[in-house]
Amino acid sequence: MKSSVIILGGGVAGMSAAHELAERGYKVTVFEKQPELPGGKARSIPVKAFTSPNHKHLPGEHGFRFFPGFYRHIIDTMERIPMTDDADHKKNTADNLVEAPKMMLTRVGKEPIQLPTGFPDGPEDIRLIIDAIFNTDTGLKPGESKVILSKLWQLMTSSRARRFGEYEHIGWWDFCEADL
Ligand SMILES: Cc1cc2nc3c(=O)[nH]c(=O)nc-3n(C[C@H](O)[C@H](O)[C@H](O)COP(=O)(O)OP(=O)(O)OC[C@H]3O[C@@H](n4cnc5c(N)ncnc54)[C@H](O)[C@@H]3O)c2cc1C
Repeated sequence: MKSSVIILGGGVAGMSAAHELAERGYKVTVFEKQPELPGGKARSIPVKAFTSPNHKHLPGEHGFRFFPGFYRHIIDTMERIPMTDDADHKKNTADNLVEAPKMMLTRVGKEPIQLPTGFPDGPEDIRLIIDAIFNTDTGLKPGESKVILSKLWQLMTSSRARRFGEYEHIGWWDFCEADL
């Protein structure tokens, strides 16, 4: 007979562990010390100020939410959580994710910096990168911009085999020659 398990903490870690164990047939109980919604730092925070009799609380968030493609585990977990309000029971939580091909870093009193989120995929992406490095007040010194560009050029002109077979095993600090 499978054991019962208790988990302390209903954040992403506790809930993921609970999900994995429940799928394997364990009886799981999650204890969460906060009285609010479960989810820990990743929970939604309803904004009660905008509630009206006909509307639910607005779903506020703790902060921005992004899941880069290399966050394999959480996306895998989301794909195994059915979307409860889907009448056909075909959709899962990962179906709520929206691909973001560009990102914007906003700054107080300065122009925002826009960059592609993935490997440059054409002239528009390259323009964005060059614009970010040369035409934006990034605080980078000329020598530093040169290093970034040469590293980008190296990445862009390397084959997939080299990127995954070789660069994947070099730390970011070493790849950037950050100590030089
Ligand atoms: C503003 C912000 C933005 C973020 N954005 C992203 C993002 O975009 N993408 C991303 O991947 N990550 C993001 N993160 C990080 C991510 O939210 C956290 O790494 C993750 O939620 C941590 O989960 P956790 O379960 O380890 O811890 P927590 O979320 O801290 O959960 C721990 C839970 O345990 C409970 N607890 C503690 N002690 C006890 C006890 N004794 N008994 C019972 N319960 C207990 C706590 O109340 C809490 O609910 C963000 C974090 C913040 C704060």
